[in-house]
Amino acid sequence: MGHPLLFELALLLLPLGLGLGLWLAGASLAWVWPLALLPYLLRNLYLLVRLGFLIQRHHRLAPPFPQGLWGEIHRSIARYQQRGRKSRKRQIRFTRRFREAANAVPDALVILDKQHRIDWANPAAAKLIDIHWPADDGRRFADILTSPDLDGFIEAGEYMRPLEIAPPHNRTIMLSLRITPFGERKKQRLVVGRDITKVYHLNMIRRDFVANASHELRTPLTVIAGFVESLIESPTTPLNHRRPLVLMHNQTERMCSIVDDLMTLSRLEMNDCLDEQQSVDVPDELHLILQEAQALSDGQHSFETDVDDDLLLLGNQPELRSALSNLVFNAVKHTPAGTKIRVGWRQDEDGPCFSVEDDGPGIAQEHLPRLTERFYRVDRARSRESGGTGLGLAIVKHVLNRHDARLAISSELGQGSLFSCRFSPDRGLEREGADRSAAG
Ligand code: ADP
Repeated sequence: MGHPLLFELALLLLPLGLGLGLWLAGASLAWVWPLALLPYLLRNLYLLVRLGFLIQRHHRLAPPFPQGLWGEIHRSIARYQQRGRKSRKRQIRFTRRFREAANAVPDALVILDKQHRIDWANPAAAKLIDIHWPADDGRRFADILTSPDLDGFIEAGEYMRPLEIAPPHNRTIMLSLRITPFGERKKQRLVVGRDITKVYHLNMIRRDFVANASHELRTPLTVIAGFVESLIESPTTPLNHRRPLVLMHNQTERMCSIVDDLMTLSRLEMNDCLDEQQSVDVPDELHLILQEAQALSDGQHSFETDVDDDLLLLGNQPELRSALSNLVFNAVKHTPAGTKIRVGWRQDEDGPCFSVEDDGPGIAQEHLPRLTERFYRVDRARSRESGGTGLGLAIVKHVLNRHDARLAISSELGQGSLFSCRFSPDRGLEREGADRSAAG
């Protein structure tokens, strides 16, 4: 019915015209105009009150709508209401789907508030962590899952590695807990608890087997190596037996190195945390490691160093020595004569960083993610020839993990390789009495 504004004007002009007619006919102006406009005002008042009532009672506005501008207002509100209904429905559908998914997940999911109190948990949390939601709403997470490691783990705020824990309500299961900060300003925590009982036991069996087998093999191998060495040195050994005996001796030595590395790895695996930590004089260690590397290289490689002599590291000395030396010796063992090796030990805003860079043959990209696997070698034959066990980088990775550090490997074929170990800033220590300003 035409334009709403025209309708509204027509509605207003009609009584005005009527009033004008009556006035011309001699009626008094004092009552003609108000009387003529009264129906118009009453209509507007009625529609205003009705709309106010409908909105207040959350009524859904539906046609037929009044005509004119009031109809337009009704239509706009109805459209707005419809949009609101649709988005509410979408929200309900999403919440339902999220709840169904969370209920179906076999892992325990728990949301903690800023004070690490329970805000929400899925049904799997009841079985795995003994957290029943909503009954346990508002309880402290650490009061239910009591463990000496847990408090520090949640407070640390650094969740690179999951925490393995046997929950107090059922010590026969093993859980892997991962904590992720989320929500407003990342103050809340999402805890994901996964049942890793089977994998954990298999891992224990594998760990024990490797540790026992290496231990059992070590003594007979030492005896064999000793006897073979005596036979080589004995004047009564026929000359034509010497070469096979030397080969036997080399292989026995190789087996001893493998067994030693396996035992080192087992030791690192058996004990998750570092017990003996001290301030390790890394520059001093590097000095000795470089001497050994030069002896290993036999003058075939050139070495360059960029070492901060006053930068020490909080950690376990024998472990760090083994990791750093493995990386430096690898640069000698796996690169040809004439290769330049650059060893760095510096601190920047991200923390202390140890690096070994070479301009050797490099490693193809597809090998990089697997280099730290046990016995993974790019070129098996060459690695054996150079006396490698294939366990060096696995040891490095374990040692760094225990020091909350990360190993980064970048390499390109024909360009060389860079192995760098990044430690957290709080592990870097300054040598006592070091004069930084003079050094700078
Ligand atoms: P290995 O006992 O063979 O040295 P590692 O675990 O230390 O075992 O190293 C795994 C493999 O990574 C080596 O066999 C070698 O192929 C490769 N690699 C390690 N360091 C270097 C390097 N600096 N340049 C080229 N290849 C390397």
